[in-house]
Amino acid sequence: MALLIKDKSEIKTANTFTSVNPATLELLGEIDVFNKERVDLRVSKAHDAFSIWSKIPLEERLIYISKARDYIMDNLDNLCELITKENGKPLVESISADILPVLDLMDYYIKNKNAIPSHENISLGKWSLLNKSSYIEYVPLGVIAIISPWNFPFSIPMGQIIQAIITGNTVVLKPSEHTPLIALEMANIFNKIGLPDGVFNVVTGLGETGSNLVSARVNKIVFTGSVATGKKIMAAAAQNLTPVVLELGGKDPMIVLKDVNMSNASSGAVWGAFTNSGQVCASVERMYVDESIADEFIYEVVRKTKKLRQGIGLDKNTDIGPMISLAQMNIVKDHVQDARDRGAKILTGGEQFNDLAGYFYKPTILTNVNHDFKIVSEETFGPVLPIMTFKSEEEVIKMANDSKYALTASIWTTDIERAKNMANQIEAGTVSINDCVSTFALCQTPWGGGKESGIGRTHGKFGIMEFVEPKHIHVDKNYNMKKFWWYGYDENRLDLMKQSLKLLFTNGGVTALPQLIKDLMKNKPL
Ligand code: NAD
Repeated sequence: MALLIKDKSEIKTANTFTSVNPATLELLGEIDVFNKERVDLRVSKAHDAFSIWSKIPLEERLIYISKARDYIMDNLDNLCELITKENGKPLVESISADILPVLDLMDYYIKNKNAIPSHENISLGKWSLLNKSSYIEYVPLGVIAIISPWNFPFSIPMGQIIQAIITGNTVVLKPSEHTPLIALEMANIFNKIGLPDGVFNVVTGLGETGSNLVSARVNKIVFTGSVATGKKIMAAAAQNLTPVVLELGGKDPMIVLKDVNMSNASSGAVWGAFTNSGQVCASVERMYVDESIADEFIYEVVRKTKKLRQGIGLDKNTDIGPMISLAQMNIVKDHVQDARDRGAKILTGGEQFNDLAGYFYKPTILTNVNHDFKIVSEETFGPVLPIMTFKSEEEVIKMANDSKYALTASIWTTDIERAKNMANQIEAGTVSINDCVSTFALCQTPWGGGKESGIGRTHGKFGIMEFVEPKHIHVDKNYNMKKFWWYGYDENRLDLMKQSLKLLFTNGGVTALPQLIKDLMKNKPL
């Protein structure tokens, strides 16, 4: 009989930790903890590989991406099964949320080389009259440390890895301690397709391994995870002035206007709140419904939630899998208890689902809540949906913005122009109209947020720019002409400067031309 692990933290030693199936609590593997010395060795290997990889033409780098895409397609079932076993999500979500976004991102860059920054001419305006020109070469940064969470264990790191390596960087990945086997499978994919040794590296372990990577000789840190860890990483990175991208938490509002398509929006709400067992940085974590339709809308949301089938992700009929860990489920229990104590009404759920061994919490809907409740103000990261009502547009915008997070938000209505106007007033990295959560899968658009949701972007043109540095090359073709700002200062030069300003920056400045020519003739550069 398989070994069952009640709480992952039960089994770990100084040198190893365990991977556990959160649905069945079966032990999936025992994994190495990388100490500082081993982390440094991997970083050093990535630096060695960088000196070669960064010089390989883009076309050649993209061939490796094509091969990786083909390998993933050829091994789809095994990969899906591994993601579902180690993370718990249903098989459909392993495809829709973890594999599809990666394949699409790979395909996008394979077909759109121009989306990968390489060379750009800069217009110099007036300076070009002096036969000057400038251009930018976008150069890779070096070794990128990618530190990731467990909730999208394949799509989050893999999208970042692809963007990093196609721009000529090498990568050291520190995956979540909850999903190390998926990261080791990524290493296997790159190994199988013949990616040069050292371009992609994995260091497994707990938080300390991540901390060792942050203080190692890396050129950038791309972190996705909690606000608390993000703050620690930013403070540690400051020691070496290592730049950071931080993709952190969210408390994303869904706003439902009274002219909404009720059937559609209620299905969207149920999926947006409970997909991946609600463990999504962009999931619908709080909902505001126009009070004139609230009763009917909430009834529909509760009715549909009650139909969800909770179970093991490998069962093809499962809608909601387990949570990732006991610790994560305890946060949900704490938030629900706080709400209950303050008088919240629980319309469905509100307790653990005990039919199975794993960490299952029933999809839960609450009303009679407000912004003083933990469940409305703090990130819960579980299958719970607190619902509030509003009377006016002004009021709901204020409520949506009343949060320390600003990752995503959604507005549901048939009046698209009104929603666009509201979107302009909402503080979030992404505002979706009549959709939610799914924009992470759009590889063309920026992903990230403001306030405590993070710094920087991944995906799209802003995301890929995080992996390059603009190197400016300036060319002056007048190699035999002294510049008028070089030494040889005197009264004449001062006048020459003033006449130049007059010519360039005043209306009718052309009247300065005769004096400027005279000054130029008398100019005596050193
Ligand atoms: P976490 O912060 O606990 O861990 C994330 C990673 O950081 C893990 O690999 C962990 O081992 C590592 N780590 C922990 N301590 C560290 C330290 N001191 N130095 C370096 N690394 C360290 O987060 P989690 O529980 O894995 O993920 C859930 C959180 O991630 C949620 O808050 C969620 O909103 C957020 N998230 C954000 C996004 C986004 O795109 N904005 C996406 C997914 C998840």
